Formats: sequence, C-alpha cells, structure tokens
Amino acid sequence: MPALTSPAEFPPEAWCALLDALPLPVTLTRFADGRFLYANRVALARIQRSIDYLRNEHLAEDFYCTPFGRAGLQMQLREPDSMAHLELELRDPAGGIVPVRVAVRRLQLAGEDCVLGVIDERGNATRKALTRTRQLLDAVLANMPGMAYRCTPANGWQMDYVSQGALHLTGYPASHWPGQAPDFAALIHPEHREAHAIALASGEGYGIEYRLLHRDGVARWVHEQAWLVEDEQGQVIGREGIISDISARKADEAAREASAGQYRELVEAARSIILRLDPAGHITFINQFAQTHFGFAPEELLGQPLLGTLMPEQESTRRDLREVLAGLLANPEQFAVHVNENLCKDGRRVWMLWTNQALHDADGQLSEILSIGNDITEQRQIQIELRRAHEQLQLQYQRIAALQGQLREQAIRDPLTGLFNRRYLEETLERELARATREHSPLSVVMLDMDHFKLINDHYGHKVGDDVLRALGAYLRARSRDEDVACRYGGEEFVILLPGARLEDAQRRAESWREGFAALALSDDEQTPHPRVTLSLGVASYPQHAGDGETLLKRADDALYAAKAGGRNRVEVASQPDAATD
Ligand code: GH3
Ligand code: MG
Ligand code: MG
Repeated sequence: MPALTSPAEFPPEAWCALLDALPLPVTLTRFADGRFLYANRVALARIQRSIDYLRNEHLAEDFYCTPFGRAGLQMQLREPDSMAHLELELRDPAGGIVPVRVAVRRLQLAGEDCVLGVIDERGNATRKALTRTRQLLDAVLANMPGMAYRCTPANGWQMDYVSQGALHLTGYPASHWPGQAPDFAALIHPEHREAHAIALASGEGYGIEYRLLHRDGVARWVHEQAWLVEDEQGQVIGREGIISDISARKADEAAREASAGQYRELVEAARSIILRLDPAGHITFINQFAQTHFGFAPEELLGQPLLGTLMPEQESTRRDLREVLAGLLANPEQFAVHVNENLCKDGRRVWMLWTNQALHDADGQLSEILSIGNDITEQRQIQIELRRAHEQLQLQYQRIAALQGQLREQAIRDPLTGLFNRRYLEETLERELARATREHSPLSVVMLDMDHFKLINDHYGHKVGDDVLRALGAYLRARSRDEDVACRYGGEEFVILLPGARLEDAQRRAESWREGFAALALSDDEQTPHPRVTLSLGVASYPQHAGDGETLLKRADDALYAAKAGGRNRVEVASQPDAATD
C-alpha cells in the first residue's frame, strides 16, 4: 500500500469546512485503496463514527455488505474524472443493512487520486423491504442444497463469495473463500477441466455438468448454472452461479443404463424366443434368437399381427388358433403356460411351449403381453413315439400274458379232452391230501376206463375213437363241481379227484356218471352213429383206503380191475386194506 499523506493534513481545512456545510452525507476516499480521507458531519452522523476512527482504521469497503461493492466502484471509475451512480448496501453499526444510492466522482485533489461520494439514502419503507428480501435471500443461500457463488474480475475471477453449501460440495467451509480454499478450477475433476474452461471462455452464461473433487477425495457430480452480471453500460462486472449436487441423479441414471444394458444383453443372448405383443395381438418386439429360429427378418414381423405370421390359423391337429389367441388376449392369466403350433417362414411347423406374462399400465389396463417360448417339437415327437411304443408294448404284453396263460393251461391240460393231465393230477392229489390231513376232511378218487375201447378203434376208426374220448371229457367236465379235479390219466383211463367227498358220495357220483354216459352214447342219432360205450369205475377214499396218493390211486385201480373182472359197466369200491398185503 503506498504511503499515505497524513490524513490529518488532508484534505485542506477549507475543503473540510465546505463539505461539512453540505446537508448531504459526503465521503472522500482514496481511489487506489479505498482509504477514508474525510467524511462530512452528516455522513459521520449517519454511520455513527468519528472521523478519526474512519481515518485510522477503515477502508470504504469495510462498510460494503459484499466485496462486490468495491469491485463495481473501481470498474466504473476506470477513467480519471469519471462519474458514476452506484447501488450499494452498507452495514450500519448494529449490523443492519442500509441500501444506498451513491453518486461518485473520481478527481485529483491536491495531488491525491480521490473518490468523492455523495450518499443518497432511500426511504425507510424501501429499506425495510430490501432488508427483508436480503434476509430471505440469506436464508435461501444458507439452506440451498447446492452452493451459490460470485466471482469478480477485481479478484482475478476467483470466487469472492460462496454460500454455506460449499462445505457439502467441496469439504471447505464458506469462510475459507477466498484465500484458504483451493482455487476452484483445481477442484474440478481433470477430465472436465477443459470443458469447464471452454464454458467460461464463451463470454456468456452456461449450464454444465462435471465432477467436483471433494476434500475427502471422492468426486461428486454437479451441475453449474452460471450467469454474467453487467453494469448499466453493459460492462461485465461479475459472474454468479449455482452449483448443485447431482450425484444421486447420476447414480440413478448409471444404474438405469446398466440394467437396461443387462436387460438388452439378456434378451439378445437368450436361447429362448422372446416376443412382445400389444393388446391387439401385434408383434412389438422380437429378439435375435426368435428371428433366426423362425427365419423372419424383424421388419417382416414388427407391427404385424401374430396370427398369420408366426401363428397359423389352425394347428395340424385341427385346433382353431384364432380362438386360442382371442382367449390369450382376453384372459392372459389362463394362458400363463401354453403349448401351441407355430409357423416358420419356410412353412415348417414347430411346437412351442410358451410362458406368457401380462403387463398392465397404471390404470390396470393390459398394455402388453411378454411371451417367452421354447421349441419342443423334438420332445413332442419323442413323446408321441414313446406313447406309441408304450401302447405297442402294452399290446404285446397282453398277448404274452395270454400266451403265458395258454402255455400254463397247456402244461396242465390234456389237449384232446380239455381235462387236466396226469402230472397235474399227481401234484394236486398231494396238495389235497395234505389239506385233508390237516383239516381232517375226507377225499375220494374215482378211476374209470372205457370198456372194449380197442373194438371202437377197430370198428369205427381211430378218429371216431378220439371223438368218443372228447365226448367223455365234455361229459365229465359238465358233471363235475368246482372243487372236483377231472383228469385224463392215460389212453382211455380217467381219474376224478373229489376233495371233501366221503366214499359213499363218491360211489354215488361214480354210479351216476356210469349211467349218464351210457345213456349219452345211446342217444346219438343214426346218421353219425356213435358207438355205445360203457364205463367201468373203481372208487377209493382217504382216510379209510390209503394215507398217501400213490396208494390211494393203486386202490382205485384195483377196484377198477375188479369192475372189469366183474363184467364191466359197473362201479366197484376198493376193499379195506389188509394189514398182511400192505
Ligand atoms: P377193456 O374193456 O379191457 O378196457 O378193453 P379195451 O379194449 O378198452 O382195452 P384197453 O383198455 O387195454 O385198450 C386201450 C385202447 O385204447 C388201446 C388204444 O388203441 C386205445 N387208445 C388209447 N389212447 C387212444 C387215443 O388217444 N385215441 C384212440 N382213438 N384210441 C386210444
Ligand atoms: Mg378199456
Ligand atoms: Mg384202458
């Protein structure tokens, strides 16, 4: 600061007297540094200070509410002897703000470059209104989420005012500006410095987004809206702006972009068909895989109705797909999982398993249907073939079961007469005897042999002999009960096993068979004369005649032999076992 002429000696007394006589507040300050040289009585009364206080301690700008006041003054009084009118806000001793209009004139006075200021106070009402506005502005600036700032050329375009939000955005409190906080340009992320410098150099206001380096090392996204401040002559005297934190919005945007990208990738990488339908059944989206699968180009499908492109009107099974589609559009929930036939561009038909999801707008109206499909033609073919194979297997199984039944029957039946065979008799006799022993129940056997059967063969031929054998088989079957076991024992010999039958019952039944068969043979007509055949029968019973099967059969055979010996065509009962012969 240049050496000051002793303020007590300046200005000359004559000048002071003249100034004190004026009824307006008048100040005299040095242009270079704003130091007070003099203030007349009215001015001193107005600011409630002594002239010595002003001269020794203070600069004019100490009374300005913002640093902007002095910058504006210097700008406007660039030329010697220039004049200007300024709107300023002064601080009163109580800390209040006094808006004033100041007429200033730069002049050379006794070799000093001075500024003569004449203060024109406004009315009280205006002052109060302005004070309230100012308080409101202060509150807004203090509470706004971002920060407000002001730069002036006087300060090399550094920020000479920042609002309290600077702390949140930069980590440096508002009081650190200017001077203690780093140069603002250094806080801009290196990647964005050039863009910011270009915006600054535009000579106009600007809106720009960039990242700001916080004191904690984290870069935050901000939006800066800046405008230029001009004086009455259109001269730029400052730049003001608001910087807002947009990190949250940027994070949202990034997340949205990432998930949209992932969605796109997923849809395009999917090995499934993905398509979207509008509520009228037109295709609004189809993924790459679907285009390849069906062989259509996107422009052949987008905006086209599904029916007639990918969906035939009728399936090869004759099902009407127009109805199916109408159902899907009306009640998508009922078609959540659905199989139908689809059409490829080359005319091939494929079977698809579709998963359909209805999407609704805010009013609950159907907005679109999202369908994901997989080609199941092959699986379906396999299924059909499997079903066919299964049916055939079943048929074969039934045949085999029938054959097995037949085989089993054949194993135990005599083919000529249809009666059980000798092997079956032997098995059954053992089983039935064991049961009879266990249950203390009787069991009888009747053994019978045709009389003079050789003569039948000799006289009528072997074939007629067979017919007679068959006739006897049918007769015995017809006359036996469920529990009876009628067997062809060999040649023209038969055994009937009668579980539960006592000797007398067996004897009675043997007698009725003898009579019945003789009558049957007799009743045959003359055209196809059946020979008259009689039977000889032997009866033996458990427990009185034998305790085992072999002996029991032997006893019955003995009785049969006795019947033959006794003249044939008769029933004989086994004799009581003789202790000496057994
Ligand atoms: P008998 O009164 O003593 O029994 O005199 P028979 O002629 O019946 O004598 P026997 O019982 O010994 O003769 C059995 C004959 O039955 C011998 C055989 O030619 C005949 N025969 C055995 N099995 C068959 C057969 O399956 N078909 C035919 N047609 N004849 C059979
Ligand atoms: Mg015989
Ligand atoms: Mg015989």
